[in-house]
Amino acid sequence: MIDSLLGFIAPHPCFECGKLGRPLCSNCKYNIESESFAACIICGRAGGKNGICISCRAPYSRAWCVGERTDALLRLIDAFKFERAKACYRPLADVLGGCLPELPSNTIVVPIPAVASHVRQRGYDHTLLISRRVAKLGGFEHRSVLARKTSSKQLGASRRDRIAQAKQAFRLDSPIASNRPYLIVDDIITTGSTLHYAAQILKDAGAPEVWVAVVARQVSTE
Ligand SMILES: [Zn+2]
Ligand SMILES: [Zn+2]
Repeated sequence: MIDSLLGFIAPHPCFECGKLGRPLCSNCKYNIESESFAACIICGRAGGKNGICISCRAPYSRAWCVGERTDALLRLIDAFKFERAKACYRPLADVLGGCLPELPSNTIVVPIPAVASHVRQRGYDHTLLISRRVAKLGGFEHRSVLARKTSSKQLGASRRDRIAQAKQAFRLDSPIASNRPYLIVDDIITTGSTLHYAAQILKDAGAPEVWVAVVARQVSTE
């Protein structure tokens, strides 16, 4: 409410080119959407199909990503996550929705649940906002079937810590439909462990197909 009011009074400059109006102007949005991400979502190497290369293993069978976490995507995500620029969820969801192919109409969109302390800090659940809009744009049902077991923070933890944390981070919060595909939505993929274990839970519970869609891939600094 306050955010949309502020947006009305003082339009956001585009995070890429600075043009006043929206957090991502239509030109820059077009540029992001036209540069499709063809690499493996897990390791970042080229090749493979459905977003996963032949060397990487995942419980999900298809994966989509808008691009690397650089330039406009980096600025939009960081503003959204760390500067409380709530309005950024719209362009982020729009570019993510734009990179998806036509999916079955009975697909269920599932958000990666946020860490409770992050939601308190920001005043909103950033992944939930994105996944809800992705579902709305595609006309899909949205269900928060995953919940977080612990509130351990991921930021700054080592790769090994992250994988260990991800393994026990989630639990199933509602039953899984055995005849409908699931699309898990997250904002950033780093090691891939969060999506891996979230997808594994859905598969173990009987989901016939699990796919993932993330806004950006974090280039590894390790
Ligand atoms: Zn722009
Ligand atoms: Zn790979």
